[in-house]
Amino acid sequence: MSDPDSISLGHVASAALELLRKHPEGLSMAEMRDMLDMGADSQEHFNRRVRDIRKVYEMPLRRRESDGASIYVLGNPKPQADSGQVSERLRAAVIHLAHGRCQMCGRTVAGDGVKLQADHKVPQSWGGPTTMENLWAICEACNRGKRNYFSSFSADEMKQVVHFESVHERIANFLRLHMPEPVPAWAIEFVANVRDQQLDWRKRLRELRYAPIGLEIEVSKKRDDKGVQSFYTLKNWRDLPPDHVRLIKDFERRKDR
Ligand SMILES: [Zn+2]
Repeated sequence: MSDPDSISLGHVASAALELLRKHPEGLSMAEMRDMLDMGADSQEHFNRRVRDIRKVYEMPLRRRESDGASIYVLGNPKPQADSGQVSERLRAAVIHLAHGRCQMCGRTVAGDGVKLQADHKVPQSWGGPTTMENLWAICEACNRGKRNYFSSFSADEMKQVVHFESVHERIANFLRLHMPEPVPAWAIEFVANVRDQQLDWRKRLRELRYAPIGLEIEVSKKRDDKGVQSFYTLKNWRDLPPDHVRLIKDFERRKDR
């Protein structure tokens, strides 16, 4: 569901919506056109704009007691289904915020000639919404790589992984899905950053090896189409204790002494 006010209404529809808000008793089409100073020839255009509002708001047509005129009364916003479509406005805002730099690999439009695309960070099929927070600007190569790589995972499994609030749980459970295969660093970085910005996901991964957590994770280097990359392989599985963040901190304190 998205906020109805974030859906773009044209300026005529917005003005009509404002009028209806000021007149909770309801207004006829002719009254709204008069108040907005629209001539008779604009009738059809205006009817379309009113239909735009009715896509977003409940707006029952009623009969006014005093003069029998048909009037529209503004009701509640309608719940909007998220189609996954990125509007032009949203796309432009996402690309603008990236300042010409791919948010995944860091290559730039100016320096590397990449083309940026607005992409759902958490794919829609994993429950990701079409909102500013869940969109990022990435280059075509990154977008293709991400799509190809994640297409082998079941959406239900990934939905569970990205749902974890703890970054340790997200990384551990993602590696577990892959056991005993090596997972490329960029994919772990992606899963780590899916809910909040993780400045040091590699440290979060190392913490999973601490004795109280006890996961065994092997590192290897391999060359792929992006150059030499680190890969991580999970060798055993143990459920993470619910208080793993505290256990990690305690372990670190003891270690430093
Ligand atoms: Zn990129």
